[in-house]
Amino acid sequence: MDKKTYQAYIEEKKELVFEVSDKIWEYAELSLKEHKSCQLYCKVLKEEGFTVENPVAGIETAFAASFGSGSPVIGILGEYDALSGLSQKAGAAERCEILEGGNGHGCGHNMLGAGSLAAAIGIKKYLSEKPAGSGTVIFFGCPGEEGGAAKAFMARDGVWKKLDCALTWHPGDCNQVTSGTCNSCIQTEYAFQGIASHAAGNPELGRSALDAVEVMNMGVQFLREHMPQEARIHYAITDAGGVSPNVVQPHAQVLYMVRSVLAKDALALQKRVDDIAEGAALITGTRLKKKFIDGCSNTVPNKVLEELLYQNFQETGVPEYTEEELAYAKALTNSYEFHDDRLPGDAWEESPEIKAFVEKASENATKPMNDFLIPYLYSEKKTPGSTDVGDVSWLTPAAQFNTACFAAGSPGHSWQNVSCGCTSIGHKGLLCAGKVLCGTAIDLFEDPKLIEAAKEEFAEKTKIGYYCPVPEDAKPVLSGEKIEF
Ligand SMILES: [Zn+2]
Repeated sequence: MDKKTYQAYIEEKKELVFEVSDKIWEYAELSLKEHKSCQLYCKVLKEEGFTVENPVAGIETAFAASFGSGSPVIGILGEYDALSGLSQKAGAAERCEILEGGNGHGCGHNMLGAGSLAAAIGIKKYLSEKPAGSGTVIFFGCPGEEGGAAKAFMARDGVWKKLDCALTWHPGDCNQVTSGTCNSCIQTEYAFQGIASHAAGNPELGRSALDAVEVMNMGVQFLREHMPQEARIHYAITDAGGVSPNVVQPHAQVLYMVRSVLAKDALALQKRVDDIAEGAALITGTRLKKKFIDGCSNTVPNKVLEELLYQNFQETGVPEYTEEELAYAKALTNSYEFHDDRLPGDAWEESPEIKAFVEKASENATKPMNDFLIPYLYSEKKTPGSTDVGDVSWLTPAAQFNTACFAAGSPGHSWQNVSCGCTSIGHKGLLCAGKVLCGTAIDLFEDPKLIEAAKEEFAEKTKIGYYCPVPEDAKPVLSGEKIEF
């Protein structure tokens, strides 16, 4: 068995994979509305010989494409949702919208799905040459990462439990295997209904929903002093009632986001925010309705899988760039509003040796493309953001990495990322990711001890059990929709 054979097969299939990535880039569909993107994946995967299930966990734009039989069962995760307001011409180094106010792949999820597709195709080729029962690969199409947290809904419905492990990646501005953890996060929308009246003539007849939102926000401000140090609460008023001050506002809505490292702590804090909302309704004589929007758990790092990804990344190598690609990347770096000289990746923060390596390799963060692999460092450090990969990692050993798909230092969710995501730089990054995922999966199929070790580590780290942030009866929804009374 030579992993290189299957990585070469991915190379043979690269035109198909690039075409998918570029089409998804063009579709640029928002969270949970990725209908064309999902259909394209399902079509291509069927043509490639996978058995495709769609929808998954009641989510229309989620799919599961499997090949092979028996165990181990390895999951490869892909995403394909875009962001609003980021329409941008591909390959341009200046802001240039294609569609005014249109969507764009500012997080590079067109590449995320396509890189995972490349891996699935390579793994399928490997499994097709093994005796039946040697193992199964499932490529999961996970919609709504930017809003909706489909993976957490899939977690609630038992999708991840059947896996022996899961692997994924994300486009970035450097090549690194990521470690550490992040925050759990729960989003809930609270709507208040009051009674409209003339604010001067008949104020006693009115009950203000806007007052309820303000009282609730004030209550939460007081809560901040008495909550765990690492927790965070954010909010946005999504409906402030009307625009006439002489009317008592009969409706108002506020969206809350509660974060803590562990989902069980976020859930407990969430309950206190719920109580405050009820108190606000009581104080203002309004009615309250709340709607769960989404929620996700923190990630559980798995050193065994991370080391294996790193080993495969070393074997695969990183993309190399032409003079033309470097000139374009350089022009993109010149277009940033804010320049910082922060070094790429994050492993250097905890290791002086890695810091010295990254300083040298990136020429002190001045290279337009980070064309090197950052040494791996296991970490339990927490980053403040959240991802629904967390819920996968509480139910099966999981690991992830980044490949350079964007110019060095490119801001997250930016037009620069959209521009780069449909160029040869993006193609190189996603193909590299596909090969690393494929090589890692083959190692796992070949050596059952690796999965055993990953599972042992996983069992130790998840022994408190999984606290699903998604309620039993919740359905995937997006925030901002008006709650009806
Ligand atoms: Zn993303």
